[in-house]
Amino acid sequence: MSKILIIEDEKNLARFVELELKHEGYETEVRHNGRTGLEAALEEKADWDVILLDLMLPELNGIDVCRRIRQVSNVPIIMMTARDSVIDRVSGLDHGADDYIVKPFAIEELLARLRALLRRIEIESEQNITKQTTVIYRDLVVEKENRVVRRGDEVIELTKREYELLLELMENVNVVLARDVLLNKVWGYETEVETNVVDVYIRYLRNKIDVPGEESYIQTVRGTGYVMRS
Ligand code: CA
Repeated sequence: MSKILIIEDEKNLARFVELELKHEGYETEVRHNGRTGLEAALEEKADWDVILLDLMLPELNGIDVCRRIRQVSNVPIIMMTARDSVIDRVSGLDHGADDYIVKPFAIEELLARLRALLRRIEIESEQNITKQTTVIYRDLVVEKENRVVRRGDEVIELTKREYELLLELMENVNVVLARDVLLNKVWGYETEVETNVVDVYIRYLRNKIDVPGEESYIQTVRGTGYVMRS
């Protein structure tokens, strides 16, 4: 359930919007001036999904509230403005609002904008998660979700061990990983294997990922282990 903070000094309008949002299944709270609105917006445990912010507010106007929220938070903000003037819209968006709606508005329009904004936020956060599951080193890309290793469009086929070894090195760029560390991380504690199995697998891996005639992606640190350097 999304949580919406409504900051609006026209009490009838605020009440109407609140009832409609609740009817749609949103959780809502209302503040009637800029100062208490800002306080509610910045309350950490509130964790708002969207803030509906009136432009003309007593005590602290909507632009100031928006600007001060933006100093500390990326919470989505929809500005509600009574005047359809370009200046209002531009200054609202300039100060960090994500969208605006002009009063008087049909409630359906507000609901549509809310849904669009929430959907956009959801997509953006999904994309962020995807980013974190992609590991890049030079022209090598590892997509962790589907365990694919690519150079450009070319997929490099790796065995499970080779893949895990490569990922370990790529996630620890500039960290020298000792043979026994790699052994534990990749082979686990079924370790009847000798540490030189790491050397063998590094050789397999180099054969698959390195470009012939160029320096290896994986550097040997003599007497210690291996590293990928940035
Ligand atoms: Ca107002």
